[in-house]
Amino acid sequence: MLAPAAQDTDQADIVPRSHLRALADAGLFDAAGHRTVYEILAGACGATFFVWVQHHAPVRLLVASANAALSDQWLPRLRSGAVLGGVAFAHLRRPGPPPVRARRVAGGYALEGEAPWVTSWGLADVFAVAARCDDRVVFVAVPADAPGLVPSPPLRLTVMQATSTVRLGFDGLTVSDADVIVELPFAQWQTDDAVATAKPNPAAFGVAATCTRLLADLDPETAAALETERLECRRRSYGGEPDQVPLRAWSLELAVRCALALVAATGGRSMERTHPAQRLLREAVFYAIQAQTGALRAATLDRLTR
Ligand SMILES: Cc1cc2nc3c(=O)[nH]c(=O)nc-3n(C[C@H](O)[C@H](O)[C@H](O)COP(=O)(O)OP(=O)(O)OC[C@H]3O[C@@H](n4cnc5c(N)ncnc54)[C@H](O)[C@@H]3O)c2cc1C
Repeated sequence: MLAPAAQDTDQADIVPRSHLRALADAGLFDAAGHRTVYEILAGACGATFFVWVQHHAPVRLLVASANAALSDQWLPRLRSGAVLGGVAFAHLRRPGPPPVRARRVAGGYALEGEAPWVTSWGLADVFAVAARCDDRVVFVAVPADAPGLVPSPPLRLTVMQATSTVRLGFDGLTVSDADVIVELPFAQWQTDDAVATAKPNPAAFGVAATCTRLLADLDPETAAALETERLECRRRSYGGEPDQVPLRAWSLELAVRCALALVAATGGRSMERTHPAQRLLREAVFYAIQAQTGALRAATLDRLTR
């Protein structure tokens, strides 16, 4: 369902709700499941995949939350697909003053600042928002219609336009303690995040696989060589080697090379908006920065200058 519509979705303003309904009906709104599911969905339709991935952030946070009442409030509907989730937390990785701050007020927190990237605006019903409160991080559940949320117009992007990604300001937004999903020391979050973001991203393998499959019809030898490298990179990435960041950088760069090979083998037609090659190349480039950390940034630049 997703792959045949991927060119249209790429050019759309927003991912069709029917795509999300289909994923929910397939049971994929519950536990995110296996890496292979990520690969297949990312290889089929980047925008639908990314909206779906963001949904799993609040799901995971609520599953792990000690706030049982809040989990009971949201989880059943998030898991059935009655409600779509989104997340605003990547700003925690930015150096310098925290872009989103939480200030203690009676019975809860007041949020201030701006989250630079929030996907699924207009689609999601609830967002897990992360804010810094001195040396701690608080994740809170914020309904999309909460007063005090100030979205920008959807950002004009070179890729993933249909994810409806905005900058989200917080102006007078207060949340009660009952809406706190988790609160933890910032240093602990950083340690956990360094582990999570070091892992190679299955989406890159999914995009690369679609590219080598399409390339096989045009240049079987090149396709076979790239597919061999993809499988080797994937085997080592999922094999639990201790130093994961260089493997992640390899997988991201490999996805770009697979997509570029598809472009080169296709020729001029690849530049038509209706052709999957240019979309896959843009999507591969997107994964090079998505969930980027300082360590990954360094590893990617290192690979590109070897
Ligand atoms: C289309 C789109 C949708 C997105 N949707 C969401 C979403 O729904 N929710 C969400 O939370 N995030 C979302 N993101 C954020 C995305 O994951 C971030 O782009 C990614 O984490 C990189 O962060 P940045 O661009 O904000 O940070 P940048 O400021 O570009 O920094 C990237 C990383 O490099 C490090 N860094 C920066 N400069 C240097 C330097 N000079 N030396 C060393 N290290 C450096 C930073 O510490 C950071 O870890 C989205 C991004 C895009 C493009």
